[in-house]
Amino acid sequence: MIRVHVQGAKGRMGSTVVSAVEAAADMELTGTSDLGDDLAAALAASSPDVAVEFTTPDAVEQSVRTMLEAGVHVVSGTTGLPCEQAQALGEVATARELGFLLAPNFSISTILLQRFAGAAARHFADVEIIELHHERKLDAPSGTAIHTARLIAEAAPDEVNPGRPDETETIPGCRGGKEAGIPIHSVRLPGLLAHQEVIFGAQGQLLTLRQDTLDREAFMPGVLLGIRKIHEHRGLIDSLEHLLDD
Ligand code: NAP
Repeated sequence: MIRVHVQGAKGRMGSTVVSAVEAAADMELTGTSDLGDDLAAALAASSPDVAVEFTTPDAVEQSVRTMLEAGVHVVSGTTGLPCEQAQALGEVATARELGFLLAPNFSISTILLQRFAGAAARHFADVEIIELHHERKLDAPSGTAIHTARLIAEAAPDEVNPGRPDETETIPGCRGGKEAGIPIHSVRLPGLLAHQEVIFGAQGQLLTLRQDTLDREAFMPGVLLGIRKIHEHRGLIDSLEHLLDD
């Protein structure tokens, strides 16, 4: 049995993870915590193998640090943690011989979209990303869209989106924010959950890849996979991609 603690357990994602862990035959829920609880004391009292956390961009750094200092492998899905802070936590994990999975998206269809986008990037130089989320999402752009942009740029043989040096914006921001030279456009509306489009353009042809997450249950196979596999790894693992074909 894998002993699991869930932090942010009263939240939308955390409460869904609690149910998924309770339903998994190979896992035991040893504890939960949320804002105002003493996480270090809870971990010391229950000695879990893995701590899962879905909190907020402000809380994630301290939350993960406390888990690693307690000697527990970490699976986090909170987005908005700056890259340098993630790397620093990865070093803490490595020093303590622990795994730290920080996955911007646990939906397997999203991981596949990113793979397909990487394949398309070898043939199309021009690309933009539109990410769409529910109106309560605190950070923009989504961590998933940033990760998609980086993967596309890494896979592209040449510079992405060449040839727009004279472009101007009459309304600042309307061409999106750029990551690795790729514009990302963020939409926030009630009725949406989590959706992503990657549009490749070339003369006379377009290729649109689209992924839709319609229910928080969509993330649970990925979260459970992370819980099952993270003990085999050391340091920061920045995507579920690295565990998918283990
Ligand atoms: P949410 O419903 O607001 O849940 C966050 C929970 O964390 C709340 O219960 C909140 O308590 C609690 N919290 C806040 N500060 C805390 C602290 N210092 N210590 C402990 N708990 C604290 O948000 P959500 O929709 O579940 O999303 C959580 C995060 O997961 C977001 O960053 C979101 O972008 C991300 N997310 C990731 C994925 C993925 O696949 N990786 C999927 C969906 C969402 P209060 O409500 O009292 O503040």
